[in-house]
Order: sequence, then structure tokens, then C-alpha cells
Amino acid sequence: MNFDSLCVHGAKDKNNQTGSLAVPIYQSATFAHPAVGQSTGYDYARVQNPTREALEALVASLEGGSEGLAFSCGMAALDAIMGLFEPGDHIVCTDDLYGGSVRLFDSLVRRMGLKFDYLDTNSASALKGALRPETKAIFLETPSNPMMKITDIAAVREIVDPKVKIIVDNTFLTPVFQLPFKFGADMILHSGTKYLGGHNDTLAGFVVTNDAEDAEKLRFITKTVGSGLTPFDSFLIIRGIKTLALRMERAQRNAQAAAEFLTGHPKVTKVLYPGLPGHPGGNLAQATGHGAMISFEVDSPETAKLVLEKVEMILYAESLGGVETLITYPLLQTHADVPENIREALGITERLLRLSVGVENSDDIIADLSQALA
Ligand SMILES: *Cc1c(COP(=O)(O)O)cnc(C)c1O
Repeated sequence: MNFDSLCVHGAKDKNNQTGSLAVPIYQSATFAHPAVGQSTGYDYARVQNPTREALEALVASLEGGSEGLAFSCGMAALDAIMGLFEPGDHIVCTDDLYGGSVRLFDSLVRRMGLKFDYLDTNSASALKGALRPETKAIFLETPSNPMMKITDIAAVREIVDPKVKIIVDNTFLTPVFQLPFKFGADMILHSGTKYLGGHNDTLAGFVVTNDAEDAEKLRFITKTVGSGLTPFDSFLIIRGIKTLALRMERAQRNAQAAAEFLTGHPKVTKVLYPGLPGHPGGNLAQATGHGAMISFEVDSPETAKLVLEKVEMILYAESLGGVETLITYPLLQTHADVPENIREALGITERLLRLSVGVENSDDIIADLSQALA
């Protein structure tokens, strides 16, 4: 089946005898046993429930991985991944990461004795210089958030030892436009809250892996701490994924138009969108599309604040990847917990805005940006 058909038909409830097209919400905390020592495959819902199980198989198949796990949100998924490492292990990260990932690493995981370095993961010399015998993983976000820096996953694979896990946060492009396993990644992270869910109505997170041992350890973690996704949220994400390919195509088309509009605007000093000519790494074969996230810099902090207050259809809200176009102020919202020196070095300034382009009519998106900038 082709990818877009898989989005529509890929979620299967293997337990259902009714012919229901939708995977049912198995809202049960526990499952009765047929006999002593026997199980239907489900025991207690913290461990697994049939709705989550169907979603996990769907997301794994979309990424081309053997196992998927669904979590209560992207951060819970990343926290579970951290449970695969030991005190003393060293992880090299893209310097421009989702702010919540930086907060997790620096405020919580460091205390457990793990070490992190942040650098330009697309620079071979920076990466080679950071590798140590204790380096166990490279954590990549590509395109990065919010500066849209692209890391060549295959180039990283060539540099690092095969034993070093490459973990890719694939939230921005989704498997519609980027399949990290094809380029040497070992593990994929998603905030399913974003494009996979697609409707800004629930949170979810995913890990996909091809390593059975890692999958087993991750299952042990969710079973123990209870970070797995609920049946109702699993249902919503399955429903969202049915239109994933459709939404990504439309949002990308709108984003290209919005990026071109912004590029020509006198109050806009810089536009970062991988689909614009000359964007570094924008033509790499690892991505078959450019997504729908745009960051742009305006001429003054006052203009930035005015745009946030004047948008009408576009909503000033944190998050991304839904049908609604959202605008964010990374400095005060998503990246408030990133240390100031790193923020400044990256260019996350008072003049930087981030746009998650939705699936509305592109004329309305552009008209709204135009009146807000005026
Ligand atoms: C939102 C986001 C996360 C965190 O996911 P939640 O579902 O909000 O916990 C991680 N990475 C990226 C790139 C994100 O945009």
C-alpha cells in the first residue's frame, strides 16, 4: 500500500469482530483472564490497551520501523528514551532544539549523571571534536526548532560509530516528508501532538525503533511509570493520521506561498524556510518536502509584538502542526528555558517569530499577515 493509503487504512483492530471501520476506544482499566495463567494479550491498561496498540503499529509502519510506542506526549516519549542510558553516558545534541527537550536534559536528566553537548550537528568537524568514548547517542532535530537548520542524517551516520544511536526528532517533517531510518537513524521521536494528531485537540508522543531490545526496555519503562497514551487520545491520533498526507501537502503549499510573501515584505528582514532558494540543506535528498514551519525576523521588537497582537484569523499560541495557522514568539514561549547565551548565538531574538502554517486558504493567511505587518 502506498503511504497515503496506509494513513487511511493502516490502523487495524485485530480484536474486532463487528466490522467497525474506526478502531474502538477500549475504555477499560483492566482485562479479564480466560483461565489461570492465560491472558487475552491484555492485562492492565497501564501496560497496554488495544486502541493504543493499533496506533503504535500504525505509526511504526508509517516510519518503516518494527516497533512503535505511544506516550502521553512528546516529552514523556523523550524522557522514556533517556531511561535507556546510564550515568556517565554522553549525548551530543543539535544546538537548536525544541526548548522542552533542552529543559528535560539540563534540569532533570543531567542530575541522573548523563552529559550533554549542544552543537551544530551538520558540522563534521564540530561533531568529530565532540565524540568521546562515552558518547552513546546523537540527538538530532532536522529541520531544527526554530532556526530551521538542516542536519544531513546520512553524513552523521558516516561519522559516528555504528554503536552510537542516532535519534531523530521527526516532528516537523513527519514520515510524509522524511524517513530517518532510510538515512541511518536508529530511533525516531515524535510529538504526536503536532502533525500526526493535526487538530490541536490532544497531546501524544511516539518512539519508533528497529531494535527489539530497546523496544522491550521502553515497554518496561511505560509499564512501570504509566506514561503510555490513553485509549481516547489514541483514537484521536488514529483519526488525525487518516488525513496526515493530505494535510501535510496542503500546509506545505500554503507555507511556500506565505514564505514567498514574507520574503518580499519591507518589514521582514529574514525568512527561514527550507523551501526558499538557497536555504542551507534545503535540497538534501533525505527530505521529500519542506514542511510548513517558517521562522522570520522582523525589523524591530515592536513590530514583532504588534504582529502577535494584530493577527486575526491566525492565532497567537504555542504549538504547531494543526489545521489552524499559529504564530509563536519563541523567545517568550517555546524557548524561554534555553540559556540566554545559546539563544543569542542561535539568533532567537526579540525580533524572531515562528509560524506554523495550517490548511486554511493561503489567501486568507497572507491577507492576515499583511494587515498585521501593516
Ligand atoms: C512539541 C515538541 C516536542 C514536545 O512534544 P509534546 O507533545 O508537547 O510533549 C518535542 N519536539 C518538538 C520538535 C516539538 O515541536
